[in-house]
Amino acid sequence: MLKEFCEKKYQKGLDNCSHEELYVALLEMIKQQAKESAVKDSAYNDKKKVYYISAEFLIGKLLSNNLINLGIYDQVRSELEAAGKSLQEIEELEPEPSLGNGGLGRLAACFLDSMASIGIPGDGIGLNYHFGLFRQVFENHFQKETKNPWMEEHSWLTRTGKSYEVQFGGFSVRSVLYDVDVIGYANRTNKLHLFDIESINEDLVQGDGITFDKTKISENLTLFLYPDDSDEAGNLLRIYQQYFMVANGAAMILEECRARGSNFHNLYEYAVVQINDTHPSMIIPELIRLLMAEGIAREEAIAIVSRTCAYTNHTILAEALEKWPLHYLEKVVPQLVPIIRVLDEQVKQRYQDPRVAIIDGQNRVHMAHMDIHYGFSVNGVAYLHTEILKNSELRPFYEIYPEKFNNKTNGITFRRWLLHCNRDLAVYVEQLIGPGFKKDAGQLKKLEKYLDDAKVLQCMLDIKNADKLYLKEYLKKTQNVEIDENSIFDIQIKRLHEYKRQQMNALYVIYKYLEIKKGNKPTTPITVIFGAKAAPAYTIAKDIIHLILCLQELTCKDPEAAPYLKVVMVENYNVTKAEKLIPACDISEQISLASKEASGTGNMKFMLNGAVTLGTMDGANVEIAQLVGPENIYTFGESSEQVIAHYAQEDYVAVDYYIRDADIRRYVDFIISPELLRIGNASVLLRLHGELIQKDWFMTLLDVKDYIRVKERALKDYEDRTAWARKMLVNIANAGFFSSDRTIAEYNRDIWHLDQ
Ligand SMILES: *Cc1c(COP(=O)(O)O)cnc(C)c1O
Repeated sequence: MLKEFCEKKYQKGLDNCSHEELYVALLEMIKQQAKESAVKDSAYNDKKKVYYISAEFLIGKLLSNNLINLGIYDQVRSELEAAGKSLQEIEELEPEPSLGNGGLGRLAACFLDSMASIGIPGDGIGLNYHFGLFRQVFENHFQKETKNPWMEEHSWLTRTGKSYEVQFGGFSVRSVLYDVDVIGYANRTNKLHLFDIESINEDLVQGDGITFDKTKISENLTLFLYPDDSDEAGNLLRIYQQYFMVANGAAMILEECRARGSNFHNLYEYAVVQINDTHPSMIIPELIRLLMAEGIAREEAIAIVSRTCAYTNHTILAEALEKWPLHYLEKVVPQLVPIIRVLDEQVKQRYQDPRVAIIDGQNRVHMAHMDIHYGFSVNGVAYLHTEILKNSELRPFYEIYPEKFNNKTNGITFRRWLLHCNRDLAVYVEQLIGPGFKKDAGQLKKLEKYLDDAKVLQCMLDIKNADKLYLKEYLKKTQNVEIDENSIFDIQIKRLHEYKRQQMNALYVIYKYLEIKKGNKPTTPITVIFGAKAAPAYTIAKDIIHLILCLQELTCKDPEAAPYLKVVMVENYNVTKAEKLIPACDISEQISLASKEASGTGNMKFMLNGAVTLGTMDGANVEIAQLVGPENIYTFGESSEQVIAHYAQEDYVAVDYYIRDADIRRYVDFIISPELLRIGNASVLLRLHGELIQKDWFMTLLDVKDYIRVKERALKDYEDRTAWARKMLVNIANAGFFSSDRTIAEYNRDIWHLDQ
């Protein structure tokens, strides 16, 4: 099929085409097939549609995934092979769109895949950031941020003719809309709509850095995701971006619903808007404004919008729940302020409790509060997270609206996170239990009948070893680091945040290093792999990266330690890197402070690929533990109840742990030891040392001893290869629950109610 396509396009055979030509041909061929197969036989009637609006869509490369979902991966791959070409090499030409930051954006991408794959009419709405988040490079053991351009002449973006005028206070901008096909697995094709500004000026960013004039809104609006907001101009820019996204989204939604027959009085029969975290919250007042402009009375407009919008909460970290000063909104979106004031007054009339007000005593607008009062559904993203929302974080709201609260435990698309990233494992699983698991992930459970089959267990280990070898070669090629494929791969990859506690893992490395120096060498060597970007203005997070990079240098250069312990920090962690790292993992590090990780989805990807979790009872780890049983997961640390009590009573004092425990003192003090000071920057390491002793807001020292103890147990258990392979298989067999197809089916059953 590709052969015919290229013969027609280039008048030559595949063997005579360059990789670039083949890449462009594949883009075109896939887009054409997507169009031909779009909405052929949807299970749903196309009256009501989901609009998933999100500041981030961390979609990853699309080439292989689209081939898989169209069902032509094997055919195209063998056509290429026959012509002496490698699909994998062609795939390397594809840039990864940098349209997300972490789990929240990756979730949005998995949800798009699942909506299309189970046949739900549902589109994404977001922004087309030219330079994305940022590209991370390491220089002198520090993170440096550079811009991450990813748009090319030939890409998945299709420029549509759509464009809207978006009015801000004092000026307006014109949008352009790019669409990306979201090709479901043997099912629908939906769209991801990415809005951009017509007047973008990439030259505002000089050199390869990420600084630019933050006041030139009509030129900078879609340059970066999450521009630095440490000053007022940065805050305003984020509000401009958010309003631009929702104004375009709302205009497009109304246009589409009208075309499908809505008279707007019945908008909720035609559209459901899922608000992904608080960034798109202004779509509520914007839709109200637009409906009023259509002649609908204010009260009715509010009621219609409240039946149309639903909100997903992603975090209980207070600093992440956006509160915009009212005078910022007055400057950026003066047309929304009267509506927000009315919504606030209504709430204040009904409820005296100041904790549920939209506008607080300091004239700040609580975006989440607006979502909860004026949306019809509020969901958390894992069982424990939703319970914490109901019982502590959003308790006053839960008391008012118990019927709105519901849980939707996150999921991941198995097409990307198994079929694509771990083809060998997927093929083997299919040999064992047939192809049914690809559409119905619950069928993975059938693997449990092989738990005592020595041959199957050995095959699991062989596949893992091959994946470890791939990763070794990849790291050699991309970062010129040398790792031992026979060591235990212990991996922590996720955004850098103190609550995720990469610093605790770093303390483990220090512990282990000191043990080796004392002569206590591990039976099997250990490779501790990190990957993480830190927000550019997050000082402590960057200090932790510095520590890890210093430990990398220390462990790799020390001839006594290197054969037994190596630290590797992967540069510019993104979806592409995750796809190489996850299949090769033995131990999945999910060690957030209990109660702080809403769900996690990395934990699910690792489990699906046969890694064993080492984690706290936090987020979806709780559900993983329930599914696999205590034999097949390593848990440690204080519970979420205990941690919440520490915060309430303010009784956690890091320095007490430091003073009382000589071991802890030794590990923490090693941060400012001569060995590390020789490698790193003294003032940075001193600052981090002081932070851990004097603040340690996320209680590293509370759990570090238990963490080391349980990690040592896991490493010891690893030595019994058959028993370990059994744990791997139990994890894979029970991962079906975490398919985002299941999550999306639940969203539809409980929130969206699209009809078949
Ligand atoms: C899955 C994923 C995440 C989320 O990881 P967590 O461990 O759940 O925080 C972040 N970044 C990328 C690139 C991912 O693929």
